Amino acid sequence: MCHALLQTPAFFTLLRQIDEDLMQAAHQNGCCHCGHPLHRADYPRKPRGCPPAARPDCSTRLSLCCAGCRKRTTPGSVRFLGRRVYLAIILVLRSSRTHGSGTEGLPDVSWVTLKRWRLWWTDTFPATPVGRWLQGRLPPAPDAVVYPERLLQTVQADTDTGRLTALLRLLLPRSDRND
Ligand SMILES: [Zn+2]
Repeated sequence: MCHALLQTPAFFTLLRQIDEDLMQAAHQNGCCHCGHPLHRADYPRKPRGCPPAARPDCSTRLSLCCAGCRKRTTPGSVRFLGRRVYLAIILVLRSSRTHGSGTEGLPDVSWVTLKRWRLWWTDTFPATPVGRWLQGRLPPAPDAVVYPERLLQTVQADTDTGRLTALLRLLLPRSDRND
């Protein structure tokens, strides 16, 4: 059911707006290295397997550059997960054993990539700052329930849009968060 969102341009516009808000917050904080003002220094991204509905809103990674020390500040993003070439939403839905099985609307991902993603979710992600933070907050789950299922089952909202944006927000780097 979530897959319909991948054909919905408005969903990706919303994700971009969330990223714009994150960028504004980082902009107001100024450079974390020297305190000077930051300037926009976005860079192009061409995510692999990007749904056509996502292309207009997922072609740029918002970023900032310091007017003083020239160092880059790249705010957290609900669209892009670090340097990964696939969109974060694709990584979540495609890695899921329940949501990823019906691949309608999802890009083809090689078995090797899928295996690597699932290993990341089970072995790497729980040890990241975000994973450790979540560990103390998510309700206990049976051992068989692993990420990203655990997130997909836990996050509640009235709509798929609300549920998936909330889930993507949970994956934001902790350093960009106030809660
Ligand atoms: Zn600086």
